[in-house]
Amino acid sequence: MPRPIEALIHQRSLAHNLARARASAPDARVWAVVKANAYGHGIDNVFEALRGADGFALLDLDEAQKLRELGWRGPILLLEGCFETRDLELCSRLHLWHAVHCEQQIDWLAMHKTHEPHRVFLKLNSGMNRLGFTPAAFRAAWTRLNALPQVDEISLMTHFSDADALRKGTDGIAHQLAAFEAACADLPGERSACNSAATLRHAARVGGDWVRAGIMTYGGVPDFPEHDAAHWDLQPGMTLRSKIIAVQQLQPGDTVGYGSSFTADKAMRIGIVACGYADGYPRHAGSGTPVLVDGQRSATVGRVSMDMLAVDLDALPNSGFGSEVTLWGQGPKGNVLPIDEVAQAAGTIGYELMCAVTRRVPVTVERIEH
Ligand SMILES: *Cc1c(COP(=O)(O)O)cnc(C)c1O
Repeated sequence: MPRPIEALIHQRSLAHNLARARASAPDARVWAVVKANAYGHGIDNVFEALRGADGFALLDLDEAQKLRELGWRGPILLLEGCFETRDLELCSRLHLWHAVHCEQQIDWLAMHKTHEPHRVFLKLNSGMNRLGFTPAAFRAAWTRLNALPQVDEISLMTHFSDADALRKGTDGIAHQLAAFEAACADLPGERSACNSAATLRHAARVGGDWVRAGIMTYGGVPDFPEHDAAHWDLQPGMTLRSKIIAVQQLQPGDTVGYGSSFTADKAMRIGIVACGYADGYPRHAGSGTPVLVDGQRSATVGRVSMDMLAVDLDALPNSGFGSEVTLWGQGPKGNVLPIDEVAQAAGTIGYELMCAVTRRVPVTVERIEH
């Protein structure tokens, strides 16, 4: 029998979450953001569920190629654009739309030989200072692109750094939105500014023709813990689950795991779960990180090791050897352990956990029936 850990991908939930993005921004088209192998879910595994999107946005050219091989003929956007001049050949061949965020990318386009001109998304650095032209350079970049025969349509995009939070007494996006609106004023072209957080919190105000729904598509909450998945009506796209493969009876003073970081203060029963950091479970999740055992809430005890972790069974007398343990996602009795709660306990965000599930974890896809 294989080691009992597995990841389940819930296509129905992914489709539900995509519909939530659409409902949050009813006047916009929706990019399903599938970078990083669909946030760790696997492009092949999510494609059926998300093909109702208006387009797919990602970074890696081989993932774009995969989507074309899966039969997707609609828009694909490269969020970081091209990394070298010959990437443009693939863009021409596969009809990829691409971000243009720096002068070098315009230089490459100007030298590119193509029969069909490209659709590009000109990116404004509205304050995040990662990618994009400064407001002062934006118009000149637009004018340069507009003069190129290699370019067909120019859309305008930017990215918010604080759409999930309040920042310096503002609502997090005001200064960037003002910069975007000023830079784009009287330029033609479609606009795209919202990530998941902005789609959920600010879509009506930001407007735009396309929203870029990443984390929410997978059921992760961009503004946890201010809001949770129930608040936004998002469902886990992934469940990580395993089983208890051993039970230990502790006496007061007994310790658990490497470093003996947990000491029992009373007699208690613990279960050893076949899941560790080599599966992608965060090693920084300390004692008390929530888990579901047979669908009931419990908590980890002691350090996470490479292949195992321990859970408290003291309040769960009917659970033991062979019990199902939900590390995050959908439990066996319909209850949910949000990935955001596990991430918080490990000092990180749901994004990182879902991207970090490792190759040794077998994946089962719960398919949408047509
Ligand atoms: C990853 C990414 C997104 C999606 O962000 P989420 O917070 O996951 O919704 C949107 N836009 C760009 C440019 C990105 O890189």
